[in-house]
Amino acid sequence: MTQTTSAAGIAWDLSDLFADYNDPAITSVLDEAAAEAKAFAQTYRGTINVPDGPDAEHLRAGLEEFESLQDKMSRPAVYATLLFSADTSKPEHRNLQQNVEQRLTTIQNELLFFSLEWLELSDADAQKLVDHPVLESYRHYLANARRYQPHKLSEAEERIINEKDITGISAWQRLHAEITSGLSFPMEIDGAQQQLTLDAVLSLMYHSDRAVRQQAFTKLFEVLGNHTQTLAYIYNTLVQDKLTMDRLRIYPDPMAQRNLDNEIEPDVVETMIAVVEQNYTLAQRYFTLKAKLLNLPRLQIYDQYAPIGEVSIKMGFEEAQTVILESFTAFDPSFRETANLFFERNWIDAEIRPGKRGGAFCMPYPPSLHPYILCNYTDKLRDAMTVAHELGHGIHFWMARKQSLLNFSPTLPLAETASVFGEMLTFEHLLERELERGNKLALVCGKIEDIFATVFRQNVLTRFEQDVFATRAANRLTPEQLGQHWIAANQRYYGDAVETTGGYEFGWSYIPHFINSPFYCYSYVFGELLVLALYGMYREQGQAFAPRYLSLLEAGGSQAPNALLVELGVDLHDPGFWQLGFQELQRLIEWAEELAA
Ligand SMILES: [Zn+2]
Repeated sequence: MTQTTSAAGIAWDLSDLFADYNDPAITSVLDEAAAEAKAFAQTYRGTINVPDGPDAEHLRAGLEEFESLQDKMSRPAVYATLLFSADTSKPEHRNLQQNVEQRLTTIQNELLFFSLEWLELSDADAQKLVDHPVLESYRHYLANARRYQPHKLSEAEERIINEKDITGISAWQRLHAEITSGLSFPMEIDGAQQQLTLDAVLSLMYHSDRAVRQQAFTKLFEVLGNHTQTLAYIYNTLVQDKLTMDRLRIYPDPMAQRNLDNEIEPDVVETMIAVVEQNYTLAQRYFTLKAKLLNLPRLQIYDQYAPIGEVSIKMGFEEAQTVILESFTAFDPSFRETANLFFERNWIDAEIRPGKRGGAFCMPYPPSLHPYILCNYTDKLRDAMTVAHELGHGIHFWMARKQSLLNFSPTLPLAETASVFGEMLTFEHLLERELERGNKLALVCGKIEDIFATVFRQNVLTRFEQDVFATRAANRLTPEQLGQHWIAANQRYYGDAVETTGGYEFGWSYIPHFINSPFYCYSYVFGELLVLALYGMYREQGQAFAPRYLSLLEAGGSQAPNALLVELGVDLHDPGFWQLGFQELQRLIEWAEELAA
């Protein structure tokens, strides 16, 4: 499918990395990295885990060499990924990616001892090094790695777990994916019978025709209903496995491991979740407005994603560039300058091409070079927002390159700090333009509903998981019991504003996060609310806010989120901070009410 849009010719220039898939330099870099990894192992193996610990200077030299090796290795890895994303149909690209991956795995295995030896040191010896001034710039990295130490098992045990997981949790996860991706949903659309996949039937929830949404909803749960025994069995098994592993690894509660990964204190998560719940009434207020706009007495669950009008504005790539840069300038000139690099130096691949992968992403590595952005620009206003989002990521990574590689990547809860912010800047800037009222309303409602999906819905999912883990400890849960937990968690959100009957009790059964990454969902809530609150601070403080926000971006992942945000005067333990995010949401809802009136 070749589609001509205004972005034709907007393709990235990868020559900063390599010339082509068969560039001999790729092999040379891999050979060099392999040789350096061998030499690294010869120098450092057995020198970190030594009585009384290594010299601080020795460890520092090791960390620096380790970083430069990782940077070198990221080049072929990133190149292979970008090339494959640019054209997935070429077997040469797939082969390159596989070869590079295989070679890098071997090299990484050679380096594994380095982090393991660090973990094997006694607490006292490790602490001495963490506190040593020579290692100051690695303090957070070193201390962070040590936090997993109390939860590690012996090497023999870890190896057995890894091997048994293949026929254990991984097998259950695969089975879940196989069942859900193999489901077929019979639908009648425009008089023709069709068999739809799960993704396709879920996307019909956004259809403008209510009859189509209703049919999709009914079929979705009719088909899922036939599989709930098996899906509940799989989920029960995975929850039990996690409870067992948490006991063996001495994690105090089911969320503890996720909190450790996110570097977020448990009471911060609880505070945030509670504030979100207090604001469910705000969601209900919007759903009541939406029912009115759709001419319905009350929303059914299948109406919640129904589109409010349509944004009919088209926006070419060049215009998007202008609008985005304008909106970034208003915030801070350096925001604009950085974004402009991406356009000027061809770090963006925006055109539609056959074989190109869908969606959009920003690739941060290698930090010694610059990030790359991929998107599929179809001249819709939404595409301009996507570019603003990915440029936000790009700016974050570009600014964080002041940090060395191990301190570079922002932790998951901070990963969307600049992307969602950049999107907000462009969104508000667009709304200031002379837009027709219907377009404005459609834009604002779209934004509100995006926020609902990341804040409210993910909060519901998290509460559901907590309930399931709390009750599963005593007993295996039947599909009906899982359904009761699911409806209870959803009911608190929807209140009387949305009807949640008609099969919705099986809504838990197809969600991959529950199966593959328990308690991941609260990170979405955290990221989005954080940015909304920061945006609120920006609107309150004006220009004074920008420099402090930019230093947050520059800090990358060099500190835990809490430590970085304290610098902006943010206290994550304070419910008032999280409420700031909801003030921004409320502002949008009031805006929608006004436009609808
Ligand atoms: Zn993003």
